Amino acid sequence: MDAAEAAGLSPARVNVVLIAGLNDDEGESFAAFVRTTGRVMRFIEFMPLDGDGEWRRDLVVPADEVLARIGAEASQPAERYRFLDGKGEVGMIASVTRPYCGTCDRLRLTADGSLRNCLFADEELSVRKVLRDGGTDDDLALMIRRAVWAEFPGHGINDPTFLRPGRSMSMIGG
Ligand code: SF4
Repeated sequence: MDAAEAAGLSPARVNVVLIAGLNDDEGESFAAFVRTTGRVMRFIEFMPLDGDGEWRRDLVVPADEVLARIGAEASQPAERYRFLDGKGEVGMIASVTRPYCGTCDRLRLTADGSLRNCLFADEELSVRKVLRDGGTDDDLALMIRRAVWAEFPGHGINDPTFLRPGRSMSMIGG
């Protein structure tokens, strides 16, 4: 991070995933790191996209618990929080306990040329095939529209019928 900032890439952003029983005692240390270095940190709730397939609901450290521990409160927009003493801020991606799918406008293009309309999508559209078959910009535009039209109302992680997708986060581009 020092080298990145010396090269003009600043502020360095650090993403932190706390997992119960593994590193959930490190939240305060990470918060102190942000406050002393001026770097930007985001806590991201553990999602069922791990390559080892070991995600369980009880391993998720909820955003509210992290915020209470590190002493931070909401500012605007709601995913950003400032410390109660006013020094520094952290981001919070509470994707499991406070899903925000209703306002999500993200699409993901994987390195192998597939378009996903959600991190938890179980279907992908092949941009690669369209391009290799000589598809036009209009063909691609229609594909993108179809992906958006087919978006889920929500990821369903908290529903007993939830099925994790076949490809993990590291396989779809981090
Ligand atoms: S729709 Fe999918 S990608 Fe968007 S916030 Fe929900 S889970 Fe994440």
